[in-house]
Amino acid sequence: MVDYSDEIAMYKLLAMSVWKLTPREYMDINRLAREERLTLFEELEKLWNIKLGQEEKIPLDEIEDIENPIIEKIFNADSIAGVTNLLTILQSSILKVKDNRPMTEILYEFVKSSGYLDSFVSEESADGLFAVSNIQKFFESIKKYEKDNPDSNIYEYVDFIEYCIEVGESPVVDQSELEDFNAVNILTVHGSKGLEFPAVFLVNLVAQRFPSRNMSDSIPMPEDLIKEMLDKKMSQEEAHIQEERRLFYVGATRAKEKLYLSAASFYGDAKTKKKPSVFLYEILDRDVAEEFNFEKGKVSIDGYEGQENTSIIPKEVKIELMKNFSYSQLDTYELCPRKYEYAYVLRVPQKPNASLSFGTTVHNTLKDFYTLLKTSKEGIEGIVSEPTLEELLKLYNKNWVRAGYDNTKHENMKKEQGEKMLKRYFERIYSNDETPLDLEESFVMHLGESTFAGKIDRIDLIQEDNGVKQVCIVDYKTGKVKKEADIKKDLQLPLYAIFVEEKLGYKVVSAQYIFLEEGVKIEADISQKRREKAKERMVEIIENIKARDFHAEPDMFKCGMCDYRTVCEFAKT
Ligand code: SF4
Repeated sequence: MVDYSDEIAMYKLLAMSVWKLTPREYMDINRLAREERLTLFEELEKLWNIKLGQEEKIPLDEIEDIENPIIEKIFNADSIAGVTNLLTILQSSILKVKDNRPMTEILYEFVKSSGYLDSFVSEESADGLFAVSNIQKFFESIKKYEKDNPDSNIYEYVDFIEYCIEVGESPVVDQSELEDFNAVNILTVHGSKGLEFPAVFLVNLVAQRFPSRNMSDSIPMPEDLIKEMLDKKMSQEEAHIQEERRLFYVGATRAKEKLYLSAASFYGDAKTKKKPSVFLYEILDRDVAEEFNFEKGKVSIDGYEGQENTSIIPKEVKIELMKNFSYSQLDTYELCPRKYEYAYVLRVPQKPNASLSFGTTVHNTLKDFYTLLKTSKEGIEGIVSEPTLEELLKLYNKNWVRAGYDNTKHENMKKEQGEKMLKRYFERIYSNDETPLDLEESFVMHLGESTFAGKIDRIDLIQEDNGVKQVCIVDYKTGKVKKEADIKKDLQLPLYAIFVEEKLGYKVVSAQYIFLEEGVKIEADISQKRREKAKERMVEIIENIKARDFHAEPDMFKCGMCDYRTVCEFAKT
């Protein structure tokens, strides 16, 4: 905990079993924090009437003796004791950090006073011993870091760990003893360096997975290698394959007796058939394409019973689910029901993120810009001249949202890209023939006991027929262009078309997604059949939510982009 405003880290901390907090209590405290516009940390401080780390010394009995009817209403006696203990430890840790005490001392107090260490010791199982051994290794790793970096501090150490994890190393896992456990160890190739096992399974041996497509190499290259690349005039792509080949070699040579190489023609729900990895051809020294001709099908393992995966909150805990849904909520559920549970049931706040800020900036800019166009067409307030590119860019600067960028350099880079994107939009997509009727039109549709709310970016008039306005609805997207198959499955514009006809009385004759980054306009299918399907699917999702089906649907791509990957037990990263 080096950043007390990091809500996901705070959730992870509070979810530790040692504090005995139930999901119900977490939800209540989280709701209170949101109502009062406080972070979870600030809410706890407020309830316990303390300011951690501000005063030189808070008598511990002041934390322990707190009497607050709200605390008693939300928490049971065990969790009051648990949270009190947590706050006491945090107070002491914050003062120690300020005092520049060694990290090992701070961590030891945490694992000991919280009961975390003892909970594993008392388990007397192989898992418990393994956990204790890992904690021990973690201490050693910190000690070594402190020795190598005497002027460093806890913040830099956390950056160091994050960096290690990003490049596939895990400094906190007791690697050496992995070999001794009679169990299946799942490791990254980076994480397996220096280890050996009787049998090794190298998986994902298909093109674009291993070797991976991702060429962003955050590990600095040794100078000799850069020289080798320059000498051999190697392209960036060739250098990437070389690096992946080295990794493949590391993975393959971990096996003492048996090495299994595995690959599949199809992964998950993907429709595209995969090709075998180039490394399979190389290591087997034969053409493996023929052997790789499996039909798509499901592999099942007899006798395996899947882990219960439908909800974090036990079914017996009563919770009040939302009755009002927005498109983005349903979209989150479609993406991964477990993500929906984190975001809209437990309401663990997501980090401010650059894509969200950028999207808000661009949507507000285009709204203001088209308002100028609309005003000029209607001749309101004497404005008749149409808006210019300069005005568009001025509005962009005015609407710029700063939150969520990694640093000023990142922010400036994104801002510049956005300017280019809008210039392209103005030159290629914008036309002063467009007649905007409504901008950012909000709506609510009733569906039994639930409601569905949305906001339509733009509704343009195409023509009028017998007094009925025929319109086109437009939705701006700031992300990458979606695949045709995904656009076909998309529920958003068919649902919006239903609303526009039912509530506004227009006739929707077309609907378009505009992918701004790539300057592409894509027509959506809003046929009657599609609208019915979209409505059916929406009702189905709402039913699943009511039935509390929040199973995880992990995949590398989704989890890689998910804020909850650090707390989700099913995350694939
Ligand atoms: S990490 Fe993956 S599985 Fe977990 S909630 Fe996020 S998307 Fe779903």
